[in-house]
Amino acid sequence: MKKIAVFPGSFDPITRGHESIVLRALPLFDKVIVAIGVNAEKKNFFPLEKRLNGVRRVFEEHPSVEVITYEGLTVDLCRKMDIRYILRGLRTSADFEFERSIGQMNKKMLPELETVFLLATPELTPLNSSVVRDIIRNGGNVSAFVPEKFVL
Ligand code: ADP
Repeated sequence: MKKIAVFPGSFDPITRGHESIVLRALPLFDKVIVAIGVNAEKKNFFPLEKRLNGVRRVFEEHPSVEVITYEGLTVDLCRKMDIRYILRGLRTSADFEFERSIGQMNKKMLPELETVFLLATPELTPLNSSVVRDIIRNGGNVSAFVPEKFVL
């Protein structure tokens, strides 16, 4: 059976931090599915189409990366697509506490599921999408924080 991991998130926008987690996971799995969560209640900065096309472009040279959008629970997506691993990045202890509860709840809902964590690389640890959005809103340059192929 193929080892498939899903990397769920909003990717609003994708950052070099997300990119790094996906690239580092490639040797561990046969396939990594970047799954952009669609939440009708949440107001996003970049429209879904732009995020989807942008993230696809970032990984276009990696055939084992697939980029999709999904609605609803990540465990339901895993059930539907026969995915056994959720991939997440850990930056800080705050990430750990947040991820611990989600990971344990997901495991409760779908026991065959494992959440796999990769530690953020030190230089990417301070990076998050919300800071990137703030810099963009204020006319700053985010080229050091966002993959080149994600055209802003
Ligand atoms: P969301 O808010 O939609 O979950 P995030 O960007 O916060 O989106 O998180 C998606 C995943 O990416 C999480 O596992 C998060 O820990 C990880 N991640 C985000 N930024 C980084 C980074 N700089 N380094 C490593 N992992 C990261």
